[in-house]
Parts: sequence; C-alpha cells; structure tokens
Amino acid sequence: MKPLRRALLLLAALCGLPGLAAAAGPVTAFVHANVVTMNGEAEVLRDRTVLVREGRIDAIGAPALELPAEARRIDAAGAWLSPGLADMHMHSDIADDLAVYLAHGVTTVLNMGGARDGFIQRTLPAANRGAIPAPQVFAAFVVDGTADYGHFQAHTPDEARAVVDLAKANGYRFIKVYNNLRPEVFAALAAQGRRQGLPLLGHGVTAVGLAAQLDAGQAAVAHLEEFFYGFFWPPGTEQTDAPPPDAAIARAVEAMRAHPGAAVVADLVTYAAIAGQIGHPEVVAAQLAAPDIATLAPADRLAWRQSGYVRKTARLAARLAFLGRLAKALADAGVPLLAGTDAPTIPGLFPGRSLLDDLDLLEQAGLSRYQALATATRWPGDFIASRLGAMPFGRVAVGMRADLLLTAASPLDGLATLRRPLGVMAGGQWRDAAALDGLRRDVAGHYAPHDAPADPCPPPR
Ligand SMILES: [Zn+2]
Repeated sequence: MKPLRRALLLLAALCGLPGLAAAAGPVTAFVHANVVTMNGEAEVLRDRTVLVREGRIDAIGAPALELPAEARRIDAAGAWLSPGLADMHMHSDIADDLAVYLAHGVTTVLNMGGARDGFIQRTLPAANRGAIPAPQVFAAFVVDGTADYGHFQAHTPDEARAVVDLAKANGYRFIKVYNNLRPEVFAALAAQGRRQGLPLLGHGVTAVGLAAQLDAGQAAVAHLEEFFYGFFWPPGTEQTDAPPPDAAIARAVEAMRAHPGAAVVADLVTYAAIAGQIGHPEVVAAQLAAPDIATLAPADRLAWRQSGYVRKTARLAARLAFLGRLAKALADAGVPLLAGTDAPTIPGLFPGRSLLDDLDLLEQAGLSRYQALATATRWPGDFIASRLGAMPFGRVAVGMRADLLLTAASPLDGLATLRRPLGVMAGGQWRDAAALDGLRRDVAGHYAPHDAPADPCPPPR
C-alpha cells in the first residue's frame, strides 16, 4: 500500500469516516468465481480466482493462484462475477442517490447536466476517491443558446470558449450541447472542447443538425429520440405521433458508422416512461406507491407529483417501438450504445432500478443479452477510456478498474439475476448483500420523516 493511502485510511478509521474504514481492503481475492468477462460474446471463464489490488483487477488465474498473505478472500464458489453497471445518462446530484445506485450494482454514472454546485465540488470528488458509498461519477456541463430550458447560455464564440474553460476548471469532463445553440457557438464549443479535452455530447442542436454535429466530432447523442428531432426530418420540423418509415433506420446507422466510436445513449426506459404516463395519472400514482419510493428523495417525489406529462396528449407507442428497432439496428451495426435513464427527472425513473429496466427493454427490443449487458458495461467503459483516457472499466480483465458484480447466476443466462446481487465491488471496495441493504435502509431512514402525512385518525388509546 502506498504510504499516503495508508495514512488516509488510518485517518479515516480514526475519524470514523463512512465507507473507507468499513470496506477498503488493499488486496481482495474472489476465489472459485465463474467470470463473465464481456471481452466477447462467448467468453465465460469457469472457476477462477480474480485478484484485486489497489482498486484494479491485478490477476485472473486458476483456483490455485497464489494469494498474498494479506489478501481478503471472498468465496465465490458457484457464483458469477461480471462487470459493474453504468448509467450513462442520469441527473441525480445527491449523495443518497449515489448510495442507491451502488446498492443496485451501478458502479459508474454520467451526470448529464444541471447538477448543483455542491454536488460537483464536494460529492463528486468524494465519490471518486472512495470516501462515500457511490459509483465513480463523471459530469457534463450543459449549455444552451436561450433560456427556454433553464440552462446556462452561451451566445457568442467567446462565451462558448469561456464556458468550456470554466467547466474544465470545475471538474466537468464533458460539454452537453442543447437544442438552441447557434451554429458558430456550437463550433466554438467543439473546438475549445477539443483543446481542453472535454468532448461534446448532447441533444440535436436545431440550427446545426445531428449529422453536422457528428461531423464536428460530437462524441455521443444523449437520447435515441434525438434522431426524431435532429436527423430523420429537417431539425425543427413539427413532430407528430408517427415514427418515420423503417427505411430511415439505415440512414441513421450509416451516419453513426461514418463516425467510429461515436455513441448513442440507448435510453428506451426514458421514452417508455414518457409514453406510458402521458394522459395516465394512475401510472404516476402507482410509481409514487412503489416500494422503491422509500429511497427516492422527497424533493423528487414532489416533482413527480407535479410533473406535467400526465396532462399532455400524445400516443407514443409506435415511436417507442421504432426506437427499439433503431437500437437493435445500431447495436447490430457495431455502433456503441450506452445504457441511460434520465433518472430521476421523469416520474418512474428510479436511480439504479431504472437502469435494469432499460437493459430489459433493450433485450425485449431484440438486442442479444450480451449486447444489452454491453450497453451498461463494455461500451461505456470503452467510451470513457477512449474519450477521456480515464482508467478503463466495463470488463473483467487485468488492468481494469475493479468494478464487479457478484450474482447467483450468469447474467448471460438471464438479466434478472442482476437485480439481486450477492455483492458489489466499486473501485476495489467490496460490499456484500447485507451491506447493500444497509445502504438502502440508511437512505430510506433519512427520508422516513417525510414518508407519510400524520395520521388524521390515530387509533384509540
Ligand atoms: Zn437528461
């Protein structure tokens, strides 16, 4: 162990800091584990020892692999080790949500904009040094050209460059472009982002169009449905409930393939949530009564109650089905898809759980189970490593960040096993199922005073 880290751990233990003292172990060995590596469709390793040192996967070997004396052994006989999951489009910005994500096996999140300053300045760094129970966190700074959506604005190329510099100085890793940027401002964001190492991702910019955005080097499209607004029709075209003809899918696939490495956030769960609740207040009422509500922040519950989707009128089922076919075509063409949820901004999008729902929807849309799992593991890991040069993750391989899920069955035999992890390792810190339940209980405990209004009819004494 490095002296500095040892000193920090000692300090953490003395000060009773959460997380570190409880869970850090410099060397951990999973013994007799079956491994879903995500190196390739068929690669499953039986009965291996996976050695984790200083937060990285250090070795994968036979059960007889010699272990350092200080190694903590985790008996994984009969169980399955696969990469931790990533939600690549979320908006949570409180530590309690991060704990809930972790309890669901999510070990990486990308905050897609709008996070409060305190989250960026304090919570995110604490998460990324392992000082609080949390996934690793990346954040995007969102910028628009008008006040319509309530985001920071840039009106000139000079302002665009200043925005990128400010984002860089404050630890953001991406610039998220929004609908109403002017073309010369978008171009300046792209150029300055390249200089500063902050790739662009985001929505279709109406005055530019997705195809030109990709040409300018935009790294990712933030929603599947952005193809409706910025690609299939001229950007800005009034939208109806009808999807484009399926023949248009090939054009989208071509546009993405012309920009190797450019990714699409495959957020079927987001569009499904919207489609399901428009005109259906009872759907949102049911979400507000779901067990997961206990770990949703009271402010989000209130926002869900007040959300306006239920009062809109649209029938989006055909569009949702189209997006499923688009996702499958993109995946089959080798375009990296990134699982994402938009949680918790829209009613029904729960931190953590909704990511698992997204994977189920992708599988139902026709992606192979391996492809569906890759959207939350291998593809996000490749995307982040190639765009940011960050520590690689998303596969079980030597040198990867030690983000691991231990499950009773192979996720390649059914994704449902991911919903009941036997334990989660994030950045080398291990938590078993009881510890994960403890995280949920702690968060629910913080919110319990808000759970139910006082009973107007107390039982007679
Ligand atoms: Zn979003």
